[in-house]
Amino acid sequence: MKSLNTFLTDIYRRLLNHHGHQYWWPGESDVEIVVGAILTQGANWEAVSKSINLLKQNNLLNLESLRNVGDKQLAELIKASIYFNQKTKKIKAFAHHVFEKHNGDINNLLTQDKDSLRMELLSIYGIGEETADDIVLYSAQKPVFVIDNYTKRILNRIGISVENERYQTYQKLFMDNLDEDVSLFNEYHALLDEHAATICTKSNPFCEKCCLNDICLFGIKNIDI
Ligand code: SF4
Repeated sequence: MKSLNTFLTDIYRRLLNHHGHQYWWPGESDVEIVVGAILTQGANWEAVSKSINLLKQNNLLNLESLRNVGDKQLAELIKASIYFNQKTKKIKAFAHHVFEKHNGDINNLLTQDKDSLRMELLSIYGIGEETADDIVLYSAQKPVFVIDNYTKRILNRIGISVENERYQTYQKLFMDNLDEDVSLFNEYHALLDEHAATICTKSNPFCEKCCLNDICLFGIKNIDI
């Protein structure tokens, strides 16, 4: 029987061969990555991208401007990314936090050790585990595996058993069985998201053309290999 490390590595290689490098996270600055991580909560990337572009056009993608902009104006600009009133509060809470605790210097926040950074991020209004880990991995470049519903869906369908549906359980599965490597975690998470968005879709997944179909319990049943 294959070890979990071999199995997870095999999945990674297949996804990489199939989809190629994803070059995540699409963001030109740490502030842009953080704002994108908040905006993507429950929203698709197309919508997030639209909001980010509007923020850029209005010269708002810096902490000082985000702290000072009116709630109404910010909400209007990020409208495409749904839950825009809540997300306005979240973005502003982040900007205020960095000014209060780090004198407005995002680098001062991000250069802490991984666990302290993660804990501090989780203490900020509107930042949950997935968003915190997006920031830790893609902005601070520290090795943490990001879990989302896409990842859970693929793992569950493949038949990798986890004790419960909790975020940490899935995260532990990857982090206990793969080398702690920022590039690997970056690419692996991006590939899982790409695969779930294009092949392993929520309903009617395209198992016939899936690169995992011979090792996936759902796929084997679905196409009767
Ligand atoms: S074989 Fe089907 S269910 Fe399994 S990972 Fe591929 S698309 Fe998803």
